Parts: sequence; structure tokens; C-alpha cells
Amino acid sequence: MAAKDPHILIAGGGPVGLFAALLLGRRGLRVRLFDENASPQADPRAATTHPATLELLGEAGLVEDMARVGLVAPIFQFWDRPSGTLIAEFDHAVLKGDTDYPYVIQCEQFKTAQLILERLKALPNVEVMQSHRVVEVEQSGDAVEVVVDGPDGRGVHAGAYLIGADGGRSTVRHQCGIDFAGFTWPERFIVLTTPFDFAASRGYCPRSYFADPEEWCNCFKVSADGPPGLWRTVYPTDPALSEAQLMSDEAVQARLQKFFPSAAPYAIVHRNLYVTHQRVAARFRHGRVLLAGDAAHVNNPIGGMGLNGGFQDAANLAEKLGAVLLDGASDRLLDLYNLQRRAVATEFVQEQSIANKNRLEARDPEMRRHNLDELRRIADDPARARQFLLRASLLAAQRRVAAMTLDEVRG
Ligand SMILES: Cc1cc2nc3c(=O)[nH]c(=O)nc-3n(C[C@H](O)[C@H](O)[C@H](O)COP(=O)(O)OP(=O)(O)OC[C@H]3O[C@@H](n4cnc5c(N)ncnc54)[C@H](O)[C@@H]3O)c2cc1C
Repeated sequence: MAAKDPHILIAGGGPVGLFAALLLGRRGLRVRLFDENASPQADPRAATTHPATLELLGEAGLVEDMARVGLVAPIFQFWDRPSGTLIAEFDHAVLKGDTDYPYVIQCEQFKTAQLILERLKALPNVEVMQSHRVVEVEQSGDAVEVVVDGPDGRGVHAGAYLIGADGGRSTVRHQCGIDFAGFTWPERFIVLTTPFDFAASRGYCPRSYFADPEEWCNCFKVSADGPPGLWRTVYPTDPALSEAQLMSDEAVQARLQKFFPSAAPYAIVHRNLYVTHQRVAARFRHGRVLLAGDAAHVNNPIGGMGLNGGFQDAANLAEKLGAVLLDGASDRLLDLYNLQRRAVATEFVQEQSIANKNRLEARDPEMRRHNLDELRRIADDPARARQFLLRASLLAAQRRVAAMTLDEVRG
């Protein structure tokens, strides 16, 4: 197999694959991206985009548009659900000396994907092939080939490198025989979306977390199709119940009423159920194949970190592939990619997303009191609040990996 075609191939046109294509395309590299769907999926997944990620999206000129179609949210809150008490409020303004983006932007991931797709249209060196599914991967010393099923049948495409950004069930990861160790939570997470205005009626802010030993909840605002926007509420579900039982009209209404009692029935515009995992791929590099986004790591959504990590993978990888292909840098840089991004996935995102869940669902009264008191103390102390937000916003993670060098790569 010869590297006749210097393309970078990308499997998966979710937000991570698209962002990688944009960054590589802007550097003048030839990119061919395949996605099995005809357009970005519109289900209610990521919205929260943290400061560390906004820094990268800002370099690509996306932040202004994301703010326009989304919501700028500097504050988030922790509530104790049984007592209805506001425990702590964190304002990203304490990060104004650390970042140009001392806030998160709540922008639904399909909108971000759409914004990127529009920019890709202006790059003749980037080809987006929707309705094309990558089914096989093979590589030699100097090229990688993918077999792709599309509307006109099966085709083979060769490139210099392949980015597997094809989501949690990644075909690329399977084809490369890369282990995806970790675990699956027994409870699925249900997302119920309603136009009910929790800010006006309850004083909740656009990112509100509720600790409850019985049933925790996250409550988020997204701008949807424009004002007044929609609120997404997220809960754990009973593993013994079937999807039909969890998703019935009665069940979803009862869940919302139990959590947020209201005189009138809730309007529920979407209901979605997700199996949730905590897994990290054993390696993010396999020769000429690189994994990014959910193909490389998955986690529960509390704290909104999965896609943020994926965007950061894409930026890190695009910079290194550019250095290798355009500037003649050693391809050991791609091992540094593996080292840096696996460190973020394991030391930051896995650890924090599990800790976030533990904090919200703690049952032991002593532990609950300790957790909530500690949150109050952190929020009341600007220096500790800043440290807390540096981690929550993934700025600390980005700084940690920026300090890693090729000397730390073995071999
Ligand atoms: C309820 C919920 C809330 C969340 N909230 C947040 C949040 O607030 N912030 C955050 O950072 N993260 C959040 N996440 C996580 C976030 O949704 C994911 O991390 C994100 O979707 C990962 O993007 P991706 O591009 O890697 O993968 P995906 O979005 O899964 O995209 C993968 C793409 O690959 C395509 N594909 C798959 N297989 C193939 C193939 N063989 N060939 C070609 N194409 C293929 C698919 O069609 C898809 O378009 C949340 C997740 C859930 C479930």
C-alpha cells in the first residue's frame, strides 16, 4: 500500500471530527471526512462549553457565533434538593485574570457542528462525505486505508493518517483492536426538556446542580430556537425499569412533578434516555490511526466535560499533524498527543465526572453534610473558588498537558 494520496482521513463528522477537519483545513492540509449520517444529530447532548475549550474555538473564530446562537452563562449553582436550599454559587468572573473567556457558553452541540460545517464549505481542500460509513481500517508503514460504504456502494480511500472521531462505539477503535476499559453505570440517565421557566419561577440559573440522596438532578438552560429557550433536566433512572416504563407520559410527568412540584402539568418537548459509561481507550495512537473525542474516552455528563475534552483532542492533534506533515517534525509528536490527552482523560475528566456524580448522589448524612459544607466554604473563599473553577473549566488540565514534553514519551 502506498501513500499516493496525502489526505488526512477522518471517520466521524460529529463536533470533534468536524473541528479537527476545520483546524487541519485552515492549515492547508487536504482532509476527507466521512459520516454515516446525512447531517449532525440533534439529540440533547452537550451544551456546556468551558473556558479552556472556548480559547481553542475562539482561535478558530467560532466563539462569537456560538454566543449568538447559544447563551453566555458565567454562573453555576449547587442546590440541596430535599431542603430546597441554595448551597453555593460560583461565578467564572474569578477567572478573568486566567482566561479571555471567564464564562461558559451553553451552545447545543448540533449548532456548533452546524457552524463548523458552514465554515468547511469555504475550504476547497476539505471534503465532507456524509452518508458514508467507515467499515474497515488497514494500515502499512506509509499509509492508511479505509473501506467506506456510501450511497454509490463500497469504496476504498487512502491517506497519510486517519482520525477516528466516530463516537463511543467507534468502528476505528474496534478495527485497531484497542481496548476501551472502564465501566458502565447501571442506571441510565434520562433527559426531559421543557419550556417551563425555572429562572423566573424558581430562581435557578442556566446551570444548576441538585444534590439529593434519592435522585439527583441537573437543570440547564439552552437557547433552542430563540427566546425564551428550553430547560433540560437530567436524572438517574431505576435500572429495574424498562425504557417503555421510564419514557411513558405518566412517568416523565411524575418525575418532573416529584422534583419540581408545579400546579400545572409540564409541557415536555423532548425525552431521551442514555446509557452512560466511564471508559478510556488503552491508547489514542495506533500507528497512523489517532483516536479523538468519544471514540477515545466517555464519561457521565455531570460537569459537561466529554465534548470539551474531545474539542481539546482535536486542537492538540491538528497542531501536531500540521507540524509533522507541513513542518517536517518527528511523528513522535503523535505519541505526545497520546500521552497528553490520555492524561487529561484519566486524571481530570474521569476523576472529576465521577466525583461530581458522587457528590450529588451521596446518601450518608455525614458525607452529605460534609460535601455541602465544603462547597459553601469553597464558594465563599475567592482563592479556593478560583482553584475549583480552574479544574471545573479544564484550564488546569490544559496547563498540565502544555507542560508535558517529548522527553516524557517512552521509546
Ligand atoms: C445527556 C448528555 C449531556 C452531555 N452534555 C455535555 C456537555 O454539556 N458538555 C460536554 O462537553 N459534553 C457533554 N456530553 C458528551 C458529548 O455529547 C459527547 O462527548 C460528544 O457528542 C462527543 O462528540 P464526538 O464528535 O466525539 O462523537 P459523536 O457526537 O458521537 O459523533 C460521532 C460521529 O461519528 C459518526 N459515525 C459513527 N460511526 C461511524 C462510522 N463507522 N463511519 C462514519 N461515521 C461514523 C456518527 O454519525 C457521528 O456523527 C453529554 C452527553 C450526554 C449523553
